[in-house]
Amino acid sequence: MAVTNTSKSHLTVVGAPQAIHGPNPALAATGPGHAPATADGEEAREAATSRAPHPDAHQPAGPVSTLLLGDDWKQRLRTRRSLGGAAVYALFAIVINLAANQGWLPTVPVHQVSFVLLGMVAVFYGLLRSGLNRQFKDPSLTMPQILLPATVAAWMYTFSGPLRDGVLVILAPVLLFGFNHLRPSKVRLLSGYVLALMGVVMISLVHHDPKSYDMGKELVRFMLVAVVVVTMWQYTANDTEESSGLLHALGVLLFTEDPKQRLRIQRYMMAAANFVICTIVLAYAVSTGAVNETAGWWLGTYMMANVAVFYALLRTGLNLHFSDPSLTLPQIMVALTCVVWSYAILGESRGAALILLALVLMFGMFNLTARQTRMAAFFALCSQGLTMLFMATLAPERFPVRQEMVNFLFACTSLPTISVLSGQLTTLRHRLQSRKEELAHALERIQTLATRDELTGLFNRRHMMETLSLQKKFSDQGGRIFCVGILDIDHFKNVNDTHGHGVGDEVLRHFAQHAQSVMRDSDVIARWGGEEFLLMLTDCRLDQAEAGLERLREVINAAPMSDTVSGLRVTFSAGLTEQRYEETLDQTIERADQALYRAKRGGRNRTSAS
Ligand code: GH3
Ligand code: MG
Ligand code: MG
Repeated sequence: MAVTNTSKSHLTVVGAPQAIHGPNPALAATGPGHAPATADGEEAREAATSRAPHPDAHQPAGPVSTLLLGDDWKQRLRTRRSLGGAAVYALFAIVINLAANQGWLPTVPVHQVSFVLLGMVAVFYGLLRSGLNRQFKDPSLTMPQILLPATVAAWMYTFSGPLRDGVLVILAPVLLFGFNHLRPSKVRLLSGYVLALMGVVMISLVHHDPKSYDMGKELVRFMLVAVVVVTMWQYTANDTEESSGLLHALGVLLFTEDPKQRLRIQRYMMAAANFVICTIVLAYAVSTGAVNETAGWWLGTYMMANVAVFYALLRTGLNLHFSDPSLTLPQIMVALTCVVWSYAILGESRGAALILLALVLMFGMFNLTARQTRMAAFFALCSQGLTMLFMATLAPERFPVRQEMVNFLFACTSLPTISVLSGQLTTLRHRLQSRKEELAHALERIQTLATRDELTGLFNRRHMMETLSLQKKFSDQGGRIFCVGILDIDHFKNVNDTHGHGVGDEVLRHFAQHAQSVMRDSDVIARWGGEEFLLMLTDCRLDQAEAGLERLREVINAAPMSDTVSGLRVTFSAGLTEQRYEETLDQTIERADQALYRAKRGGRNRTSAS
């Protein structure tokens, strides 16, 4: 009963003609002036979210800001982003220079790095401010703005000695910036580059100075970097991949059918995978003697217990009782405690745990509000700082104050940056969501406009033709017969002439409403033109259709047709016919039209069937 079903669902929405107003503002904003010319990298993201003008587009800029960032809002946005990065690099340069002054880092390479960083900032600013960046395929220069600092971080790693773990933590916000602004394919490229680079750096360090660099400990660090990189990679790849077959069945078992719960559990799985990897790394650290066995065992158990508890909460649906069913904030808080704990017991390679802090904060990006992200970053910094202080007091020989301080400063530069970037992503996500809703709304409107008659809310002629041909196909394939009726209001011109066009419109609307209320759900009525209506009566023979029309006649004859002119009544004439297998739709309609003509000639207010 394909057509019956469609018509049913259509009929349920009939009767909302008032919903059709002028052009949709969301559509109006999609004019050519707002369509981005090229889309790559950051531009692609921009294109996805900036169908309507970017909020910055109409913001008046002060003279200083214009001098610094220029006039064009897109260029301003790019330049501002670049300067945000520059501020972080400047801070970083100050930290490493302070460390060098104290003799904690070698002076010459620190100066070189600072010089390169400042040079880089100047070059990017110059390119963006002069507009030379427009010569490139991706004018926001995102990729080079990530590759260069990532390379510098790897370079710093080579000479930072015991402080090199702190350098790793700076990689996280750099990569995160890429994740925010690059397409998935480029994120993968970037991830590959960073992993390869760090791998080469670590191997060559172990190779050149096996006394200071232990293969096993470098491997632990490498795995931690890999965890961060792979997580990012997965996040970006996640949206496009679909599972099938056996994988699908397994997916249902693990993640449930409910798509929302599914997404939550899948996201959680990534966190859980990281916990498992970290536990393996921990076990390895215990086996090499880097971590005390009892301490390692406790932390490992704590992590595995977390995995089990959160999975159970999500899989049983208990999470739905919480205001945030994703349980993001609790998950993040718990994970942060794990990281801080691991820092306290990891011994020499503990600095690597710092990078995990960054990773944990990244998990919040998809569900936390900007404020919650800030809270999580604050919690991370506080608990990390307190742990460092505690350990430096408790075991100063294993936790030298100066090293703890530098590590803490690294965390101070990196974690707030992450929370800012996460906040940006949250805004982006919200903007994307509202665009999606606007688009769906617009689509609905377009559909209404394309299929409905504006005055009566009934289907229009075009949609009725489509419905009829579908029904004919269905009948031709052995489905039931259907009837077609054309209804025409009698002496309608008189209504217009006597009471005015407005009242005429009112009559047409009332007629439509009454017709809909009387007809069966499976029947479809459309405005065929002027004061003519076409009725498709499915699944019935001519005599049944005729009876249906007489029921309608009784209602119409008795019903007041206007709210302004009291007692206004109208009658209608109808031509009715049965669709025949061998004829076309046009022929059927023509026959109904002739029957209508006979009804008119016969004195009106009657149905003529043929
Ligand atoms: P008959 O009984 O022979 O059908 O007489 P009639 O007056 O109904 O027929 P005719 O075709 O002469 O007049 C139809 C009128 O319907 C003419 C036109 O102005 C009016 N009409 C068509 N569309 C609309 C509309 O959307 N609103 C209003 N108010 N009138 C309309
Ligand atoms: Mg007419
Ligand atoms: Mg008429």
